[in-house]
Amino acid sequence: MSDVTPMMAQFLEIKAAHPGDLLFYRMGDFYEMFFEDAVAAAGALDIALTRRGKHQGQDIPMCGVPVHAAEGYLHQLTRKGFRVAICEQLEDPAEAKKRGSKSVVKRGVTRVVTAGTLTEDSLLEARANNYLAAHAELRGEGALAWCDISTGMLAVAPCPRLALGPLLARLMPRELLCAATAEEGLRDTARDMAMVLTPLGPASFDSQAAAGRIARAYGVDGPDAFGSFSRVEQAALGGLIDYLEITQKGRLPRLSPPRREDPGGTVQIDAATRRNLELVQALSGGREGSLIAAIDRTLTAPGGRLLANRLATPSRDLGLIRDRLEAVAALHAEAALRDRLRDGLRRVPDMDRALGRLSLERGGPRDLAAIRDGLAAAAALAAELDGALPPALSALAQDLGTEPAILAELESALVAEPPHLAREGGFVAPGYHADLDAARQLRDEGRGYIAALQGKYSEETGIGALKVKHNNVLGYFIETPATHAQKMLAEPLADRFRHRQTTANALRFTTPELTELESRILNAGGEAQGIELRIHETLRQACLAEAAAISTAARAMAELDLHAGLADLAQDRDWCCPQVDDSRAFEIEAGRHPVVEEALRRSGDPFVANDCRLSATGGAAIRLLTGPNMAGKSTWLRQNAVIALLAQIGSFVPAATARIGLVSQIFSRVGASDDLARGRSTFMVEMVETAAILNQADDRALVILDEIGRGTATYDGLSIAWAVLEHLHGANRCRALFATHYHELTQLADTLPGVVNATVAVKEWQGEVIFLHEVKDGAAAASYGVQVARLAGLPDTVIARAREVLGRLEQGEREGRGRAAMEDLPLFAAAAPPPAAPAAAAAPSAAEMRLRQVDPDALSPREALEMLYELKGLT
Ligand code: ADP
Repeated sequence: MSDVTPMMAQFLEIKAAHPGDLLFYRMGDFYEMFFEDAVAAAGALDIALTRRGKHQGQDIPMCGVPVHAAEGYLHQLTRKGFRVAICEQLEDPAEAKKRGSKSVVKRGVTRVVTAGTLTEDSLLEARANNYLAAHAELRGEGALAWCDISTGMLAVAPCPRLALGPLLARLMPRELLCAATAEEGLRDTARDMAMVLTPLGPASFDSQAAAGRIARAYGVDGPDAFGSFSRVEQAALGGLIDYLEITQKGRLPRLSPPRREDPGGTVQIDAATRRNLELVQALSGGREGSLIAAIDRTLTAPGGRLLANRLATPSRDLGLIRDRLEAVAALHAEAALRDRLRDGLRRVPDMDRALGRLSLERGGPRDLAAIRDGLAAAAALAAELDGALPPALSALAQDLGTEPAILAELESALVAEPPHLAREGGFVAPGYHADLDAARQLRDEGRGYIAALQGKYSEETGIGALKVKHNNVLGYFIETPATHAQKMLAEPLADRFRHRQTTANALRFTTPELTELESRILNAGGEAQGIELRIHETLRQACLAEAAAISTAARAMAELDLHAGLADLAQDRDWCCPQVDDSRAFEIEAGRHPVVEEALRRSGDPFVANDCRLSATGGAAIRLLTGPNMAGKSTWLRQNAVIALLAQIGSFVPAATARIGLVSQIFSRVGASDDLARGRSTFMVEMVETAAILNQADDRALVILDEIGRGTATYDGLSIAWAVLEHLHGANRCRALFATHYHELTQLADTLPGVVNATVAVKEWQGEVIFLHEVKDGAAAASYGVQVARLAGLPDTVIARAREVLGRLEQGEREGRGRAAMEDLPLFAAAAPPPAAPAAAAAPSAAEMRLRQVDPDALSPREALEMLYELKGLT
């Protein structure tokens, strides 16, 4: 290693401590990367890969990014799952030089930037939380802890492995920490949810050590200070805090006390349901077309984040839901008040994130100003909320009106629009600090003196173009155009003006007078900067000391923003206040789907509102919906799930009236959705998802099944749909909407008391089908598949042929000949499959005999599947 330069030796030593991270090694105005890091970063960032020197006889690959543009590159790297260790210069390079020419500048990693630990606004989405989560397992129990260090929230919930998928789907963390032993099992989940999976060693999740970590992080005796946490919950919290200590290099962000979440407090919604209902993301991937995009009228980023959180966790607490609805209703009724509040909210900055940055010493004067402006806005909003208000609003008024002492301090300390960085200076208001004012005066007068000096020298030399300038190498200097060289370099001027430098077209000089003035200016400037930095630190500490009060005000404003936004939406879109109670009612009159309605509005088409009566008394309440494709079945199914969900977040709903008995779980499945990425057959996915519903839905669940069974052959599919419906009716006894194209299922309405048929009306006109989008009682008359295919542009010859085939099949059905009727159809016969089991044979087949013995309610989904195989064997 004799050819290793001292700098390279330092690099290698630091790199050895960060084997898994890209090392951003600070050199002057650049962060440079070497070796494999350089190769990986150059590829990921699409920047030039070069070489610098040699190591053990080989070229050293290198690339670099300018420090001032580093955030953009960090953004790209964390998005791609890299972790970046930022290695800074810890001393002035001049210091190193003093130690000797071979001496290297001291450097050290000050922070590891990972997807889950971002705090910069440019790296974060304003309206979404950026969660870091940690899953711990201990003796068969599990827990998930999650935090957003940009806002300081921290929560933990019991979470066995089975519940992990749904919880992660709700939170969508950017990064998940797990024990190294669990990494393999979580890789698929992590990939599906586009989160970075970070395994940690066993010490990180040690539950003994966790208690100590929690105690240290909060300066309390132990985790019991915040309530009681199980050992595994402590382990998860401990793993999270340990990782924060590692990545933030010992500095901990401000975290609110850990909140223990009761899984029973919110509506259970699994990953597939979230996807299907397009709550925060449309099936196409983006926010556009999602429910949140259609209903978000919040004006502040924290209000937007709160809406996303509410939508992810509708409540099951009737009292809470009613309080929220009451608040929205009050703001709905008082349009003038609402407008005034929303005017005030428009100016509210993101105090949570400002506080988060300040706590990690990454904040600047602008963050202090955000807190000042936020607290001032809170006080103004509190003043608006003074009349007779429902309890939920008066509680907010109280939280908004606390006016922490720091507000007055920030108002007198800061200028109106301070700069981003403290070291730029100029953010402390004049009159706040006497010494600062004095130093600034001296510094600014000095600038006046410089101007005066320039005038004096210009006169003395007779050179009008003479200037006093400043640069980092010479400091202040006098500059004349080169054309005056002769005059300046000759007596008597040469005596007064000491020549310092000649450039291509100018000469540069200095005088003792200028040098002295310069040092006075520098001292005063340096002193002013020092004082400002100290004031910044004092204000920062003061904000942190009042962090709890600031968070309370921020939270109250987010809540108010959310209520006012929902009220505004309700007013604008003519939504109604739902009646939520603890019955098992579900009575929607003239319901609409907010996203479909919005899309239709844009194209100028009306949305046809539809009722849904699904009230259950004793057992199940199921609506079995038949109707052709494109009639509006999925829309109706989903709109009712969305209405239930909106009601339970405390929002008005898109309907004329709505009465909803508390829903505990929402399940939504669409038959045969593709999941090719995982290499599972679509049918398998459909069955796994259906099994999850049948195993979990309780009698307060709202289940939506759209074309279940469509992913397999007709008779398989029909039998499965049949058995699933019976199970929902007899075992789950829930409220359900079940759309199917198996008309045979409609018979079940005759035997199962909780099943009622419904259909989406269509009109046939001159051989074409016209969709009326009206849901009404009864079964569909026909499926109109051929007509729909025609609308889709299938060639006329194919349509004509399909009509012919259909006619034969229908005739066969009527005559009891089944598919045998196809045999005299030319051409088709050639490709006909071997004689299938007659569908409507007079004598019961072996399979039918067996089926009659089966009690579907007594079967587990697995047994049902086995039964199917058995049945298939009998045909
Ligand atoms: P299906 O599930 O029956 O195939 P969809 O629910 O997907 O049908 O609806 C198909 C299209 O019909 C939707 O994209 C929408 O444009 C329109 N549509 C659905 N429901 C309505 C409605 N109630 N009013 C007006 N248009 C509707």
